[in-house]
Amino acid sequence: MAEPTEQQIVAALGAITDPDAGRDIVSLGMIQGLAVKDGVVSFAIEVDPQRGAAMEPVRQAAEAAVAALPGIRSARAVLTAHNPAPDQSKPPPRSAPNSPAPGARGPAKLDVPGVRAIVAVASGKGGVGKSTVAVNLALGLAARGLAVGVMDSDIYGPSIPRMVGIDRKPSSPDGKTILPLENHGLRVMSMGFLVPEETPMIWRGPMVVSAIEQMLRDVQWGELDILIVDMPPGTGDAQLSLSQRVPLTGAVIVSTPQDIALIDARKGLNMFIKVEVPVLGIVENMSYFACPHCGERSEIFGHGGAREEADRLGVPFLGEIPLHMTIRTTSDSGNPVTVSEPDSPQAEAFHALAARVWAAVEQQMGEAKAAAPSIVFD
Ligand code: ADP
Repeated sequence: MAEPTEQQIVAALGAITDPDAGRDIVSLGMIQGLAVKDGVVSFAIEVDPQRGAAMEPVRQAAEAAVAALPGIRSARAVLTAHNPAPDQSKPPPRSAPNSPAPGARGPAKLDVPGVRAIVAVASGKGGVGKSTVAVNLALGLAARGLAVGVMDSDIYGPSIPRMVGIDRKPSSPDGKTILPLENHGLRVMSMGFLVPEETPMIWRGPMVVSAIEQMLRDVQWGELDILIVDMPPGTGDAQLSLSQRVPLTGAVIVSTPQDIALIDARKGLNMFIKVEVPVLGIVENMSYFACPHCGERSEIFGHGGAREEADRLGVPFLGEIPLHMTIRTTSDSGNPVTVSEPDSPQAEAFHALAARVWAAVEQQMGEAKAAAPSIVFD
């Protein structure tokens, strides 16, 4: 049976009334992040933090209204609380551009209990080694004795499963939540576990956000010191709303020296500044060529651009990762260099990166503790 269109789903939700406002939840702009895929619908209902419990019947009614449509296999609604009154001196956060409810307020941050810090690894464009850096950074952090998770939100090209050597499917013992898969001491979740790597998928912005929200909400991460989020490449609307929805401790930007003047990296930086996510720093990947035979270092791309650019922009420089054959071959075989050749100079570069990133995270967490927390629930 054909699945209903977004309009039909929104129409069904239009029959649900918010008892306090006396109006329907669609015209009140409360529906966010509506996603429809193979008859599975998910969306969020944004409510005042104080009204959380009272809104549960509305949530259930909304879920039931969508589930009753022909062609729907399951419907899932979550309540999200928007942040307390915004600071009027700052421009209001943007709502998701494809959100079905124009005028809805900026998305609230998701609550990820048990996870102390969440760090995004981002790049202005694809192919700069973002996923490679994310995985090896995670392994470097794990080598420091930290409990580390990796969330592959690069759903356009989920390469993390291959890089960490996991090709099983995750299980869901309770039918509601998913257990992350583990290898090399990392807890890992990726859409790639659910969808084969070669399957082409067309993701629209809200679907990306919804898929990622599910990975944060429905995966039993357990207690983690740090969750590394491999972001989709680029700085489009999906990346922007992700940066707004995920309670990021900070972001690490991966760049290569040949991005002339690092224009793409600067775009990434600006995006995080716009959504007030601290930029922990820039990493220069494929910084110089390390010859696998003689170990000689060649500055093929005239390295050092990222360090200068970071200085100019007033952002920390987190280090240089060489362009080295084994970084690629070990990732391709599921045994990243940081674990398979832990004493090599390549692994050293990632260990040093991990140390700098963790120091920056600890500093951010210290500063965050001093500031009042915002009320967020799911
Ligand atoms: P992105 O996530 O930015 O698209 P990937 O991490 O998938 O990029 O890397 C793209 C390709 O480049 C992969 O084949 C990867 O193994 C290789 N690669 C990344 N960084 C390095 C490096 N420092 N040295 C050698 N190969 C690398």
